[in-house]
Amino acid sequence: MKSMIFQLTRSLRSATPLGAIRGVHSVARPAPTRRAEQPLSSEEIYAREEKYGAHNYHPLPVALERGEGIYVWDVEGSRYYDFLSAYSAVNQGHCHPKIVAALTAQASKLTLTSRAFYNDMLGAYAEFVTTLFGYDKVLPMNTGVEGGETACKLARKWAYNVKGVPKNKAKIIFADGNFWGRTMAAISSSTDPSSYEGFGPFMPGFELVPFNDIPALEKALQDPHVAAFMVEPIQGEAGVVVPDNGYLTQIRELCTRHNVLWIADEVQTGLARTGRRLAVDHEEARPDIVVLGKALSGGVYPVSAVLCDNEVMLTIKPGEHGSTYGGNPIACQVAIAALQVMEEEKLAENAERMGQLLRSELRKLPADIVMTVRGKGLLNAIVIKETKDYDAWKVCLRLRDNGLLAKPTHGDIIRLAPPLTINESQLRECVDIINKTILSF
Ligand code: PLP
Repeated sequence: MKSMIFQLTRSLRSATPLGAIRGVHSVARPAPTRRAEQPLSSEEIYAREEKYGAHNYHPLPVALERGEGIYVWDVEGSRYYDFLSAYSAVNQGHCHPKIVAALTAQASKLTLTSRAFYNDMLGAYAEFVTTLFGYDKVLPMNTGVEGGETACKLARKWAYNVKGVPKNKAKIIFADGNFWGRTMAAISSSTDPSSYEGFGPFMPGFELVPFNDIPALEKALQDPHVAAFMVEPIQGEAGVVVPDNGYLTQIRELCTRHNVLWIADEVQTGLARTGRRLAVDHEEARPDIVVLGKALSGGVYPVSAVLCDNEVMLTIKPGEHGSTYGGNPIACQVAIAALQVMEEEKLAENAERMGQLLRSELRKLPADIVMTVRGKGLLNAIVIKETKDYDAWKVCLRLRDNGLLAKPTHGDIIRLAPPLTINESQLRECVDIINKTILSF
């Protein structure tokens, strides 16, 4: 049998181009040798990535090679203001020296032990992060979506072990327009066809209510099988959708009244981005579970975390959840440094002040082009009125030409979210760039 397969494979290989038959491995090719160092142009970089990389993103055409603070440089040496901050992962600014020093020092000491053994950093980090945010315990993961998965698993365990929901009946409620990543569970709660279409079947036990709709949430929570309501305090990927004042407080009250866990997905809104340490701090509302990611490493390493109290966290026992890299010594060192920078440099206060200035300046732009300006702290968006001559993508291309990088979302929305280290004169220069760009249409 084995030799038959070998023969079949061989004859297929000789008759067809490499890799053309699914399931038949192509012959290994020698590792590419790099030609005498001739730097590639931006165009060549786009073409190479297009050729060898999956087409699951549509990047703005700019090829970056260096970052420092609020700036990035492309391979031709042009400098740009970064107004995306890697979707709010680089809150502390690119290559923050303190965070890079933590990374490199730990990288040459101990990188990974797995959780099969103790390491000397995890406890130090766990103490630091739980004290800072005021929760009993932390469960460390790597990416934001793993944090969301962990929160959902905790909610289900809690529902069965503490709340008394019958086996396999637990429900988690999400808000329309949510975004928490790309895993099967995350897309199962999505209302965006480009996230879920073609990837079914989906996770059972997930339900939706409109965002910023307290009566709808109250109705959904009547169901005794509901374990949790998971929500972003401001919906980032949906286009920086800010709920009414009081929404978070009312979520807290409803969840308490119905014995339902409130999971706050602060992966994008957390860590000073909206002008508070957490976005829920705007209303001094305390979720049962907080999910952090992105800026927990200042953009140098994938680090995420789930925070909650013992009643919830201790429902998961050894062997029931984990991750090889979660809580590794580099991640722990980096996260402590990233959080220290956030505190020492008063990033939340700066985000609050700069955000107010940014929005007040943006509101002076012609309303027939910029229809809406919204946001909190330095998580902001403008909504562009699309015409046959321009849309958000074209505006972003021209912003790039004028030295500022931002990314459109949902066709007509542009998110404006620079690193939180930006100062007033830099921000004013950015406002001038945005002004000049918008007026050029
Ligand atoms: N949650 C929110 C609110 C997000 O914005 C994102 C990513 O944009 C995620 C979760 C997923 O994070 P990651 O891409 O690190 O998995």
